[in-house]
This record gives sequence, structure tokens and C-alpha cells, in this order.
Amino acid sequence: MTRYIFVTGGVLSSVGKGVTAASIGKMLQARGFKVTAIKIDPYVNVDAGTMNPYMHGEVFVTDDGGETDLDLGWYERFLDVNMSKNHYITTGQVYSTVIERERRGDYLGKCVQIIPHVTDEIKGRIRRVAGKTGVDVVITEIGGTTGDIEGLPFLEAARQMRLEEGFTNTLFVHVALVPILETTGEQKTKPLQHSVNELRRIGIQPDLVVARCPVMIEAEAQRKIALFANVEEKAVFCSPTVKNIYGIPLLLDRQGMGDYICGRLRLPLVKPDWSWWNKILEGFDKPRHELKVVFCGKYAKLADSYISINEALKHAGAHLYAAVKIDWVEAETFEENPGKLEVLNAYDGLLVPPGFGSRGAEGKILAVKYAREHDIPFLGICFGFQMAVVEFARHVCGLKKANSTEVDTETPHPVLDYMPEQKEIDMLGGTMRLGAQPIKIKPGTLARKLYKSEVIYQRHRHRFEVNPKYWEALERKGMVFSGLSPDGRRIEIFEYPKNFFHVGVQYHPEFKSRPGRPDPVYVGFLEACLRRRLQEKN
Ligand code: GLN
Repeated sequence: MTRYIFVTGGVLSSVGKGVTAASIGKMLQARGFKVTAIKIDPYVNVDAGTMNPYMHGEVFVTDDGGETDLDLGWYERFLDVNMSKNHYITTGQVYSTVIERERRGDYLGKCVQIIPHVTDEIKGRIRRVAGKTGVDVVITEIGGTTGDIEGLPFLEAARQMRLEEGFTNTLFVHVALVPILETTGEQKTKPLQHSVNELRRIGIQPDLVVARCPVMIEAEAQRKIALFANVEEKAVFCSPTVKNIYGIPLLLDRQGMGDYICGRLRLPLVKPDWSWWNKILEGFDKPRHELKVVFCGKYAKLADSYISINEALKHAGAHLYAAVKIDWVEAETFEENPGKLEVLNAYDGLLVPPGFGSRGAEGKILAVKYAREHDIPFLGICFGFQMAVVEFARHVCGLKKANSTEVDTETPHPVLDYMPEQKEIDMLGGTMRLGAQPIKIKPGTLARKLYKSEVIYQRHRHRFEVNPKYWEALERKGMVFSGLSPDGRRIEIFEYPKNFFHVGVQYHPEFKSRPGRPDPVYVGFLEACLRRRLQEKN
């Protein structure tokens, strides 16, 4: 019998539901249970590919090319399980299916309603994941904040599932913020009480509550929450702000959460085995070095826009026992004032992240040029890779005004251009080159040394590629194309062996990076940062 856990959130969004859901999964895994997770994103968009990264955070790409919510990244990183498109459900998807069915005549003679037709579709999607994966427990996180209009059909579907699956097979977890009043230092539980009330009005009584607070909640706050949320005191847990996010499952488990969940779901009570996870945590918790990496991009203000890259750097850092400190610089700063490029000297490495459109492109190119000329380790990801190719074409190959046609449609040297199959596309949703694709790595290259493999599978999300017309010119000047698509038609990795590390990848290695299993390119980048630092010291 599959168990279903639903995670809801209150007071405000971005309160850490995703990490809580992933941590619950980890506690169950540590007890030998098979788990998976689903994210419900109540937006009307069909997928996250068309959402605003500034509002919604990064688009997390799955192996099968799903453009999903960043919480799937947390599930993958914590649970080390690959998610598929089916693990991401939006209002847009649910309604498209229901409306398509209505047009086909599947509901002929009926009035199609939110209850039961839309809620049936939601429940069907959740159960299909259970069926396909065959796991013991499916954790479903309902995005947004309790009380949002968009979220109501999903909460209603969850409520129905409790009746249909039975009390002992379903569990509701409510995660809500407990702010601390600046003036008195008091922990305020009232907003949480209100959000639980909202949930109960909809017909859902949470089974346990996770208070998200900057510090551990006091006994008094715990008592209050239990009383007002109508749960046992031992069902109130606290997720305080911590330095290492991967320590949260252990922190919650120590409060008794894993055992409480198992007891409530009538799962056998087994002693959790955290030995392997603890070993992974060591690299994060006991660093011997500190490295400073600077990102040059746009959306610099919102850390969530590039969360997988931040985490991939941390995973690679932990592998090397290095704490990685990340700073941001807005690309446009360098366009306005190239003198500012000198700030790059204060860092061990430069990373130019993925991106779209022309804003800030020139600033990124300037930053890459500075890094190449000053031998500052550089890693370019997707758009960062593309801008580094433009930089090399302009300043090393002498192709002045070289550009990507994404940035300048009139460029005399389109070193980056639409992939041929992209030229015909007019629907923008879900039509990029997406998901895992094979890459062949050339022997004798840095990439081969790092990946130690002839073929790798990496996730993609792009429309542009290095224009084959310019391969020869770039190679002649020392750029090495070390990774290509198996048919040899598409460049996936470049490296410039003259430098400590000057590497770009067309794919997104961060999506497959996990704690304890970092991506080799990120490790190579940080290793180079360390090597350079040691050499400079000598
Ligand atoms: N805008 C570029 C492209 O579509 C790069 C995309 C990205 O960085 N993910 O090819």
C-alpha cells in the first residue's frame, strides 16, 4: 500500500517547504523505505519554462526534458533519485488535459466541474507517479501559500485522497514561518495559527507542523502551536536557519520527526542509518580551505535564480574540503565602467551562468576576456559558454563584432546561431533542446581526464549552438572542442589548455550534481582555483 504525504505551506512562500519535503524523504530513506516526491505548482503556466525567473526562481531541467520548479532540484539532491516531468504538476497541465478530454467528448452529457473532474485529474496524476515508481511513500508538496485561490483545487484533491486512501496511509505536514519580533525578540506564532486555521477551513487538519524560525523555537511557542494547530506537542517540529542545508534531515530526525511519521503511517519502526549521509556532510562541515567565486550575470539580486549552480559549487567544494563563498556582480556594471573589471582579481574563479537575451551580454564578454587574459579560472555554463566563444572569436581570432545571433541578428560573424531545427519553431513553450543528451568526450583532453568516461549524459536547455562555419578558426587559435554530440555536429565542451582552467559547457552539469557525487567539471574548476591560489602564495 502506498503512503501519501502532503506538504503545505503557510504565512509566506519560499519558507522551505521543498527542503522540508526532501528532508522527510531522506528520513524515510535512512530507514530503508523507497520514496519519491512531486511538486504541485499552482500557476496556470503548463511548465516553468515560460515563467519569470526573477519571480519563480531557476528552471530545473529533468532528464526527460521537463522544465520544472527548483524544488525538484532539492528532491534530486537530497534523495539522489531522478525525477521526470510527471513529478511536476501545474494548473496549466491539469486544465489542458481536462479541456482536451471535454473536447473529445469523454464527458459527453456531463457538466465539467472543478469537483470532481479537475480534482480527479489531480489525484490521477499523483497516483500514476505512485504506480510508475512503485515506491513506499509519495511526498507531494503543494506550492504557494495556503489560502491562495490557485491552490484550492489541489488542496481539495489532497483532502479527498485522505478519505479514499485512508487515515493511516496519508499524512499532512504544514510548514509555516514563525517570525521573531525585532523589538522584543519574541517568537510569534500567530501567523502560523492563522495559516493552520485557513487549512482547517478547507477541510485539512495537519498531522504535524514544522515551524520555520531563524532559531530553535522555545517550549512556550511549541505549546502554543500545538494547542492552536490542534496537534500533539510532539508533532510540532522546528526547522531553524542552518549553515548547511544538507544537515536539516538529521536535525529534524533528532527531534523525533522520522519516528513520528513512521508511527503515524504504520510503517515499521526501524533505526535510521545515517552513516553514509554523515560521511557526505563532513566535507561541508569541516572545510580546510575557503574559495571565493564570483558570478557575472543578470538576475544577480535573486539567489534562487541559479540555485543548482550554487549547490553544485558547494558539492564540488565539499569534495575538496573547501567552503565556497559566492559573490555576484551585475554584468552591466562592467559595460558602464570597464575599470571595475579589476574586482575580479579578488576572486579565485569566475563563473558566467546561463542566460537569455542581450542585456548584460557585453559585460559578460568583458569579464571572460579579463579572466582569460589574467589566467583567472573560468567556467562558462550554457549562455556563459556561448559568450566565452564570442569573446575568443573577437579577441583571439580577430573576428571583430563576432556575436551570437541571439544578441545581435546583424552580426557579420554569427559564431553562435540557432540550431537548424530551431529555425522553424514559432511556439516558445517547451521547444528548446531539452533534457539529457549523450556527449562524446575526446581522449587526451581535460574533459576526458575529469569525466574519466568516453560518453556522458548531460541535461540541456538551449536554442543556439556554436556555428560549424567557425569551428576551424576557433580551433586554429587554440580552442579545443573536447566534447561533441555523438554525430559530431554539435559542440558541447570547449577548453583552452593555455590557462589554469578556461572551460565552457553548453549543457548544465549542475542539474546532475549531488552531495557526495559532484559534477567533475565543477570539481575541476575549483581544483584549478585552489591550485592557482597555492601557486600565487608560493
Ligand atoms: N540563450 C541561450 C540559448 O538559448 C542559452 C540558454 C541557457 O543559458 N540556458 O541557447
